[in-house]
Amino acid sequence: MAFYEDAKAVKKTDSPEKYQKERKPGQRPSSPGIYKCQSCGYEDVINRECDTLPPCANCDKKPHAWKLLVTATDK
Ligand SMILES: [Zn+2]
Repeated sequence: MAFYEDAKAVKKTDSPEKYQKERKPGQRPSSPGIYKCQSCGYEDVINRECDTLPPCANCDKKPHAWKLLVTATDK
């Protein structure tokens, strides 16, 4: 669960499919932001320099996938 304080600084997406797609470690992230492990719930930050999603720190060798939770923007 991601938390925020200023509701004006976040916005509900109009592209839900981007957030529903599962991506495996090693795949390209769709955008910088916070990703959530679909196996254990661990959240991790993926920055703009990141070309591939890392393995989840909790799940590591076990099969798992990420979903985009929050996109970071420059707006
Ligand atoms: Zn995990």
